[in-house]
Amino acid sequence: MPGPALAPLNRRDLVRLAVAAGVAAPVAGAARAQPLRTPARVVIAGAGAAGLTMASKLSRLLEGARITLIGARTAHWYQPGFTMVASGVWPATKVVSETADYIAPGVTWVRADVAAFEPEAKRVVATDGSTHPYDALVVATGCTLEWSRIEGMDPTLIGREGIASVYAGPEGAAATWRVLQRFMETGGVALHGRPPTEMKCAGAPLKGALLWDARLREAGTRGRAELHYFTPFRNLFAVAPVHAKVLELFAARDIAFAYDHTLTAVDPAARTATFRTPDGPKTLRYDYLHVVPPMAAPQPVRESALAWGSGPFAADGWVEVNRDTLQHPRFPEVFAVGDVAGVPRGKTAASVKTQAPVAAANLVSFLAGEQLEAAYNGYTSCPLITRPGRAMLVEFDYEGRLTPTFPFIDPLAEHWVPWVMKDRLLGPIYRAMLHGSI
Ligand SMILES: Cc1cc2nc3c(=O)[nH]c(=O)nc-3n(C[C@H](O)[C@H](O)[C@H](O)COP(=O)(O)OP(=O)(O)OC[C@H]3O[C@@H](n4cnc5c(N)ncnc54)[C@H](O)[C@@H]3O)c2cc1C
Repeated sequence: MPGPALAPLNRRDLVRLAVAAGVAAPVAGAARAQPLRTPARVVIAGAGAAGLTMASKLSRLLEGARITLIGARTAHWYQPGFTMVASGVWPATKVVSETADYIAPGVTWVRADVAAFEPEAKRVVATDGSTHPYDALVVATGCTLEWSRIEGMDPTLIGREGIASVYAGPEGAAATWRVLQRFMETGGVALHGRPPTEMKCAGAPLKGALLWDARLREAGTRGRAELHYFTPFRNLFAVAPVHAKVLELFAARDIAFAYDHTLTAVDPAARTATFRTPDGPKTLRYDYLHVVPPMAAPQPVRESALAWGSGPFAADGWVEVNRDTLQHPRFPEVFAVGDVAGVPRGKTAASVKTQAPVAAANLVSFLAGEQLEAAYNGYTSCPLITRPGRAMLVEFDYEGRLTPTFPFIDPLAEHWVPWVMKDRLLGPIYRAMLHGSI
């Protein structure tokens, strides 16, 4: 659908937009005058946003190193575009490209996954049986979607029986739009929510509820629909001012919500969803159910000594790293970047953009036997779309402070600029990140 009328953007605007997207965020200690000459073996596990970016960055920062990227997926998914597909703004083809297009020259790509991490032996074993010893390892495997933790739920249901999920890949996002279109005709009860685990892009389920409301209003069927949002927590977003703003938006849009509700079971035949609540299980009938599954580190990570052994990141096996340096405290040659890193905040592509220069600089310093100086401040950013043509550019750090890089835009105002960034600029910026050129 067409966005609002826009003034043309000049180069200075674009640079400022890039800064706001985290692409030009300065990283303390990340600068290095010359590439480091080293014969080191560097293995990168995972060829998604974080793994490709790290491979590109390290291939520029290291001379003579053997860099091996291990990841089986040949299609690259631009996941931040999934909400655009699920709300009918983009076709699914726009979010799919080839992994091969982003592999930096000189990097060896092993088209298999890591089957086992063996940090004590400083090696990984791939699913094709090959073994890869390393002097430094980057864990960038992202997270897994744990559909089976919801009884009765199976990703093959998406697109049928009123079940949708923007998280289920490009096809899942396209199927979500089809289910939503049907719901726009019939109306009824729509249930949205988030899982009790850490998750990538915690803003996406909220965007879903707000966008769907906007689509129903456009279709003239909002009056026939009830929208509900459920969260296992006592807030709608972990950052207090954003929570307050979402409360305001939900009230204005007549979106009902409830705290302390965790989706535990789905019965597609009966079209019911069951939630765990402090008062016991609660079963609700739905006409449209948007499922966001629990998320965890991939099994080989979870089962390795790299995972946190205690604390809030232990249950789902996120990689134990120092939250500032992104270095493993027990295996100093190991770094984690992207969704798999066991740090508070993060888990967005914008976080990858800020983490990658930090992890790359620190990995190089580690190989050079130098002090690690680069630090990640928890920068997380999400253009929180509130309706087609408008979004809020929510940016924050570890402390939950809003960190707007666009001083003339209120981060909690629904504005056209973040929408334009989301619709037209972040894709090219993201691809430049994968190439390591920004
Ligand atoms: C619906 C949705 C909306 C989003 N919206 C935004 C947004 O608006 N803004 C934003 O900044 N971010 C957004 N994100 C989040 C963003 O896409 C992720 O945070 C980002 O992709 C993380 O990069 P990653 O490399 O850690 O994980 P991924 O990009 O998922 O890549 C992980 C890779 O590792 C591979 N892998 C898994 N297991 C193994 C293994 N054992 N061995 C080797 N490889 C393995 C996977 O196949 C995959 O290729 C969104 C995500 C979703 C799903």
